[in-house]
Amino acid sequence: MTSPEVTGPRRRTAEGPVTTIGRVTRAGRGGARAALLTAAVLGVSVAVVIAVRTPWHLLPEPPGGFTPVDPTAGLSPEQVERAKSFAAALRPASLTSLALGLGVSAALGLTPLGARIVSAVARPFGGGRVAQILLGVLTLTVLGQLVTLPLGIYAEVVRHRYGLSTRTWWLWLRDVAVSTAISAAVTALVLLVTLWLIRRVPRTWWAWAALAAAGFVVVASFLYPLVIEPAFNRFEPMPAGQLRTDLLALADRSGVPVQDVLVSDASRRTTALNAYVSGFGSTRRIVVYDTVLKRLPDDEIESIVAHELGHVVNGDVLTGTLIGALGTAAGTALLGWLLIATPLVRRAGAESAADPRVVPLLLFLIAAGGLLATPVQNLVSRQVEARADLHALDLTRDPEAFTAMQRRLATTNLSDPDPPAVLQWLFGSHPTAAQRVAFAQDWIEDRRG
Ligand SMILES: [Zn+2]
Repeated sequence: MTSPEVTGPRRRTAEGPVTTIGRVTRAGRGGARAALLTAAVLGVSVAVVIAVRTPWHLLPEPPGGFTPVDPTAGLSPEQVERAKSFAAALRPASLTSLALGLGVSAALGLTPLGARIVSAVARPFGGGRVAQILLGVLTLTVLGQLVTLPLGIYAEVVRHRYGLSTRTWWLWLRDVAVSTAISAAVTALVLLVTLWLIRRVPRTWWAWAALAAAGFVVVASFLYPLVIEPAFNRFEPMPAGQLRTDLLALADRSGVPVQDVLVSDASRRTTALNAYVSGFGSTRRIVVYDTVLKRLPDDEIESIVAHELGHVVNGDVLTGTLIGALGTAAGTALLGWLLIATPLVRRAGAESAADPRVVPLLLFLIAAGGLLATPVQNLVSRQVEARADLHALDLTRDPEAFTAMQRRLATTNLSDPDPPAVLQWLFGSHPTAAQRVAFAQDWIEDRRG
């Protein structure tokens, strides 16, 4: 059987008329357009879901206007100074680490250098496809980690110096090793499936890969609390007592069935205060750091848990997962277009998209895509976090405890109450402490009116 694109226009490569590469390339012509169109359609649907599902307006603007944001968030000059000097010590290292990681990934993925490494590490193991993919991913992940390791050590030293980190260096090393191993394993699995699809269905692989990627995001969101979280922390139900009874009553008043509030052993690593909600359906859990229980008065803990209940009430994990799944599918279709229609594959030293030596290029494109998606995710996240704040205020009707809690979080976590706007826009997943304190004032104005 001859497929139309093989017997079609006579195009000869140096090796002869019909090569696998030639077939993939020509089949790709139409495929490239379809991939780009799919990416565009999915991209637009992500934008629509974000536009519709994001709570852009939370409180009506009072006649006198919103409360002006006090950049100190009401903290003392010493507290602000300490947070600023911590940020000044840490920020350049974080940004350099980010740039360095991406730069190395680009150097490996956009030149034949990474392809050579993939071939070299697989050679002693027979050099087969699976060996190239598995060992290639492992080697490049470890390499990326090693390059940024000195900056990671420096950052941990700074966190120790400011008393934020309580980790022993053994635990730090274990954390780095475990997260690198998880990252390599997940990436290897994703790339094994992707490269299998590219070879199996060379014309439409990107469509199947986009579908698989979306499914993967949903499954990962479900499995995260069951598999990833326990790799780092232990969780126990909050001990019985007045606080636990009050918190479950808050959940009850929110109208959300919460089986339990869990406490994590975060104090093994940090003095920071935090809480979060993860998973959905049967894996949903509200987790409070044990540092919160040790250091916050009950009314502030209630404020924190009320905020987390806001995420549950509004289905934020599910929304985030849906946006993530659609966005990942869009990115995968775009990846398909990039591999089919641009000279990137050749430039990366691979013969075709099905060649495992394409792994370094894929790693770079995934990293770059993730980085580009970050500001969009954070744009949505900040609004969603503000809505959870609104829920906390409505539920507890205690703006004083809420404000005290925000100040205590900023002070203890050494978070800059008013970071540079561009950094907040790029990397801020929550409103700044200054904005959250001002929001509580707006709430008082609004509910009094
Ligand atoms: Zn939150």
